[in-house]
Amino acid sequence: MDDLPGCPSCGQRSNRVIYTDGAIKLRRCSACDLVFTDPMAAVEPSYYQEHVVYAHKKMSDAQEERVHLDSRRIAWMEALTRRGSKTLDIGCGSGAFVACSRDAGRDAYGIDFNDQEISLGKAAFNLNGFLMTSDVPSMPDEWSGFDLITMFEVIEHLSNPKQVIQEVHRRLKDGEYLVLSCPNERRWQPAGRIFVDYPPHHLTRWTPKCLQRFLESNSFEYVETEIDGSLRDILWTAYVNRRARSKSVASAPSQIAEHSSNWKWVLDRALRIVCLPFDALLKILHIGTLGMRVVVRKPFYRS
Ligand SMILES: [Zn+2]
Repeated sequence: MDDLPGCPSCGQRSNRVIYTDGAIKLRRCSACDLVFTDPMAAVEPSYYQEHVVYAHKKMSDAQEERVHLDSRRIAWMEALTRRGSKTLDIGCGSGAFVACSRDAGRDAYGIDFNDQEISLGKAAFNLNGFLMTSDVPSMPDEWSGFDLITMFEVIEHLSNPKQVIQEVHRRLKDGEYLVLSCPNERRWQPAGRIFVDYPPHHLTRWTPKCLQRFLESNSFEYVETEIDGSLRDILWTAYVNRRARSKSVASAPSQIAEHSSNWKWVLDRALRIVCLPFDALLKILHIGTLGMRVVVRKPFYRS
């Protein structure tokens, strides 16, 4: 038992192997239900720079992302902050959400460990001084005192989630909020598991309860969790997995990205309408189909 790796969330060493691929294993923690990779080794920024699923090659790609930004992200930013609030987007990519927040009058900043994305974002959105190539533990001390920190689809890529969350806590003002989104491990997956759910992409898989406990155990107050339930997610997963199976692993992501940039917006809008009745049923039954978002708050500390 002693040589088993500790859970990155709760530290317990009791777990079982649920998947093996060569030297890489996926383990499920017996105490908190987190699924984590063994070894917990994140890839270098160059992996993301070359992988077309993540990489923006042109300024127009970054600007397109800004136009089609998830409206729910904007809604949280507007609900949890005021004009002039200081915000930080961790894993900001080319900074579309930072640009949107600044347009809305927030004093917004972003970090990403991928300097290619940061350079692109500075040029695409005129964000010199507001975007920085860095990981969370290496951020300079001046990047503190935030009114809102966001981490969209980041925690599942981290090899050190506890260290990062503790650092996020330190850099938030008392009484202010962290909004975090990631795939929901407790979801209905009739189209199979999406291929990026495996390492080296995702190193951890979180259930809503597991993520809540993890954040609470790192001194955050739980506020709420939103579970996404949509037929669109299932169709999208089926499509992406089908493309990945029909091509070599190396070429599949580029095909997906190319298709996405041309048709994503039109397909997405059409599907939203077609899926409405089914999505209403999923909501009533509390069935998740892909992602979730958790809102937590740093408590006020009395001196
Ligand atoms: Zn655990």
